[in-house]
Amino acid sequence: MCGIVGYIGKTHAYPILIKGLKRLEYRGYDSAGVAMINDNGNLNVYKAKGKVADLEAYCEDKDTSGCVGIAHTRWATHGEPNSANAHPHYSASGRLALIHNGIIENYLTVKEKLVGRGIAFKSVTDSEVLIQLIEYIMQSNNLELLEAVQVALHQVIGAYAIAILDREHPDTIICARQSSPLVVGLGSDGAYYIASDASPIAEYTDKVVYLNDGDIAVLQPGHDLRVVNMDNETQHPNVKQIDVTLGQLEKGGYPYFMLKEIFEQPSCLRDCMRGRISVEGYHITLSAVIDYRDKLINARRIIIVACGTSWHAGLIGKQLFESLCRTPVEVEYASEFRYRDPVLYPDDVVVAISQSGETADTLAAIELARKAGAFVFGICNAIGASIPRLTQTGVYIHVGPEIGVASTKAFTGQVIVLSMLALCLANERHTISDEKYKEMVAELIRIPEKMEKALKTNEQIERLAPIFTYAKNCLYLGRGYNYPVALEGALKLKEISYIHAEGYPAAEMKHGPIALIDSEMPVFVIATRDKLYEKVISNIQEVRARGGRVTALVTEGDEQIRKFADHVIELPDTIECFQPLIASIPLQLLAYHIAVCKGKDVDRPRNLAKSVTVE
Ligand code: GLU
Repeated sequence: MCGIVGYIGKTHAYPILIKGLKRLEYRGYDSAGVAMINDNGNLNVYKAKGKVADLEAYCEDKDTSGCVGIAHTRWATHGEPNSANAHPHYSASGRLALIHNGIIENYLTVKEKLVGRGIAFKSVTDSEVLIQLIEYIMQSNNLELLEAVQVALHQVIGAYAIAILDREHPDTIICARQSSPLVVGLGSDGAYYIASDASPIAEYTDKVVYLNDGDIAVLQPGHDLRVVNMDNETQHPNVKQIDVTLGQLEKGGYPYFMLKEIFEQPSCLRDCMRGRISVEGYHITLSAVIDYRDKLINARRIIIVACGTSWHAGLIGKQLFESLCRTPVEVEYASEFRYRDPVLYPDDVVVAISQSGETADTLAAIELARKAGAFVFGICNAIGASIPRLTQTGVYIHVGPEIGVASTKAFTGQVIVLSMLALCLANERHTISDEKYKEMVAELIRIPEKMEKALKTNEQIERLAPIFTYAKNCLYLGRGYNYPVALEGALKLKEISYIHAEGYPAAEMKHGPIALIDSEMPVFVIATRDKLYEKVISNIQEVRARGGRVTALVTEGDEQIRKFADHVIELPDTIECFQPLIASIPLQLLAYHIAVCKGKDVDRPRNLAKSVTVE
């Protein structure tokens, strides 16, 4: 949640901060704020409710000078989204300013103590408590800021990425992380950048340090990066090279990131498979499988833990692993798994899936699995995020930064990685024949080309979309591999158009949801040609018999369904287990165009944030 940016160097900080906030706005956007120290040593804080553009408008006539600053775009957890609760928060004396991403869980206890000592609070956030505590410790013990931060962090429980400015020391930013992401960029001119992920930093430098939990970094331009922990022990930061091009961060001519990302899928999936699938030999090589072959092929059970869209990808993974590898699979919501008392064995493989690699519940599930002795395998997109650092091994999906809040290319990237992994393990376990393996690998290579064909449905879907804008409810039906596609299609629609939608296994409909069907209820059925095709046709008839309006996704050339569906969207054929990669595309486009018709801000849906770094 929330985006953090900071800069300290020789140039004007404000433009860098605003640009950085815009890049991070997908993380939270209910209010935003900046703090800068100007040349006269004044610490100016400006905040506005709403989006970064509102903050920019508010700052137009303000003094935004200074070469040091921090900025924040908020996704409120404690306190309504208004300008008082927006970050940065001043300390009581006005000497310090803080931005925070995360939750201070024991904030009420700490706050009561501070209020008892006469400190007045200006907001109702948990974050303000931290800066008041730091200043209180500083003043009452006569400590330097770094020392006070160390003492204060010992006293708070929760998750945080923080950055602090001190009016008395305009040459320093202090930042720290615990369970919320924070990246430090090292500028070639001695400047420092900080951000919640590398996207705001990438245009200035390719050298970054991903802070670890417990790290406190002291940034002083022209000096080496100093990282210590709460006990003042020196930590040795690992400088990494990042590889994100500016083009990857811009909209590239599309009106929304979501549309750009939908259209990018064929090329992203090619990138994801590149170097992993040999076109000549039709063979998949995943280094994680080479390194941990025995562990993976001898898994007694695979448990997939994930949230949201990644959980839907996990449901597809279950079918792939079970049918190809004959390994039993369970798919769990990370948020449930972490608080149950799950039975885990040392020969279980837990597969954790998260686009950002920072999803708080998924990280907690990984921790639990590791403590129980299970082997943990990560699938994530963001390079250097927490998941790859906390898991024994894994696979990056390599689809480039995903900015649209509603996940599209990360979903298909996850599905393609799960497909490669399942095929790779099935080949090692000899649960599929060589011939079938090669045939399936060859088909996987053809998927991007088939996706390009599926994207050609865009115009047809754009024309259809206005019909559905007045719907209050929609039903998505699919069976087998297409059932998770129905769930994902419904989720996309809910997320960005705010139309209530439900995904259901088509045959389950008669156990309840069929009661909802009438002529007002659009029903989207994924009815591609597979072993359940005839059964799905019967399900469509059941909907028709109740006056339901059916839009069917069918395999190209299907004449049968055309006779009784209201609308038909034709898709290229592929083998059943890869169908979700194709069938998801028209459903992403449908959600997109319906939301656009309804005038919604597709990239910034209300109440949502891109990476859910709070539980
Ligand atoms: N808990 C803090 C708040 O509600 C920070 C939320 C965030 O990460 O944006 O202000």
